[in-house]
Amino acid sequence: PSGAHVAALVIGTGYGGAVAALRLAQAGVDVHMVEMGMAWDTPGSDGKIFCNTREPDYRSYWLRTRTKAPLNYFLGFPIDRDIPRYTGILDAEEFGGITVYQGRGVGGGSLVNGGMAVTPRRENFGAVLPSVNPDEMYNVYYPRANAELGVGTVDPAWFDSTACYQYARVGRKHAQRSNFPFVFVPDVYDWDYMEQEAAGTVTKSALAGEILYGNNHGKKSLQQTYLARARSTGRVSVSPLHRVTSVAPASGGRYTVTVEQLNTTGAVTTVKTVTADRVFFAAGSVGTSKLLVRLKATGALPNLNGEVGRGWGDNGNVMCGRANHLWDPTGALQSSIPCCGIDNWAAGGAFAEVAPLPTGIETYASFYLSITNNPNRAQFSWNAAASRVDLNWQAAWKQPSITMAKTIFDKINSKEGTIYRTDLFGTYKIWGDHLTYHPLGGAVLNKATDNYGRLTAYPGLYVIDGALIPGNTTVNPFVTITALAERNIEKIIATDL
Ligand code: FAD
Repeated sequence: PSGAHVAALVIGTGYGGAVAALRLAQAGVDVHMVEMGMAWDTPGSDGKIFCNTREPDYRSYWLRTRTKAPLNYFLGFPIDRDIPRYTGILDAEEFGGITVYQGRGVGGGSLVNGGMAVTPRRENFGAVLPSVNPDEMYNVYYPRANAELGVGTVDPAWFDSTACYQYARVGRKHAQRSNFPFVFVPDVYDWDYMEQEAAGTVTKSALAGEILYGNNHGKKSLQQTYLARARSTGRVSVSPLHRVTSVAPASGGRYTVTVEQLNTTGAVTTVKTVTADRVFFAAGSVGTSKLLVRLKATGALPNLNGEVGRGWGDNGNVMCGRANHLWDPTGALQSSIPCCGIDNWAAGGAFAEVAPLPTGIETYASFYLSITNNPNRAQFSWNAAASRVDLNWQAAWKQPSITMAKTIFDKINSKEGTIYRTDLFGTYKIWGDHLTYHPLGGAVLNKATDNYGRLTAYPGLYVIDGALIPGNTTVNPFVTITALAERNIEKIIATDL
């Protein structure tokens, strides 16, 4: 309620926020989490909490009147459709040169993501987080994060026999024939559940095309892991459909936090003010960066340092499809949970996931999301005239990603005698180079903050999410975001409380 005081206020309920809430509560601190998205704990009139990728409805997108599917064409035809404006689960946030996809709701990105839970190769870690001791990460915090998140790997024998991974086996065959290292990718999806889906003994989720707008079964999102444990301490409360708009110093070393309550059309119904001893920014790379840049520029937190807003990257995301020969069908039934990849990071700067196209029909397409070593970094800045935060990413800055992804797929195409698909992102467009799923940076560790996420000009303010990571993790990012949050909160609890 307005006027309340809390010991610790956490902005956002994604990976960073969930780690902070659990560990603070376990240390005896009362925590209140503020989340702009919905709770996603109540079924709709169809009996389901989440909608399917094949039938996106009002639940699919955050405050849009038309879907904006990442893969927005099929056979050259646009597939987006009109939907009612609603506080849906997936935000396709548009900046000048890039669309940034993010989860909205209690659980953040864990609600919408593929669950791929990948620890970077140790030899690459120095480039991911140069100021962090790799020994403590690989001995303590990565194992802790993987255990709490419930990470597992597909049973290779089942993988070899199940119809739903035929597309992945085709991906493996093509990778290996071109001499690329093929790797299984761990995931937080419950692999036993998926085997039961294939056997027909449980309600299908991964095998029913559920993913981008939520999974009704099988996926261990943060709601089932960190957030469940945090709530069970009895010290953590959550306010969904509440958006933080300001944090400013108050008397006694506290902070005044301004929060808007939203209804499901996105309208503000109430504005509340609370005070907090400590505030953790866990609104995601984009959410945290936008807040900090605006609060610095508009005078609420003027002493934030000049690194705030800098060092943002897209994790080098780029998508593409290949057209297979008719003797290489990829299967009408495809698990929406990817389980393998092609690792050409050392030689070509690209790690490509073999991704599904769960359309329900045979497409003869192989589809890939590549994570590449794109060196470009963008900056958030306050646009006073328009009263908004802009990001200066340029569309052309994806070219290094395309070049790196081509080190894999040009070679495979030449070996297999195949070509790129040109019908998935438009008409005669090969590369899905207009988007990212993996925003990182904007309040970089040891630059905008100290080496543990403290905003040192303001004791009691912390960043604890993907904004800390300088733009690239060499693999999918959430295990690294979680492990870094575990490291930082342990230090903060030991020394600041
Ligand atoms: P988030 O998880 O983004 O959480 C931030 C939360 O803060 C959100 O819930 C947001 O609604 C809330 N918020 C924002 N602003 C405010 C505000 N002002 N007030 C209140 N609340 C606010 N990563 C992987 O590792 N593996 C994958 O397989 C994978 N697949 C992905 C697929 C898709 C479609 C997408 C979109 C992402 C995927 N990712 C994947 C990326 C991963 O989900 C993110 O890196 C991760 O969620 C970021 O964690 P975070 O804690 O930084 O923030």
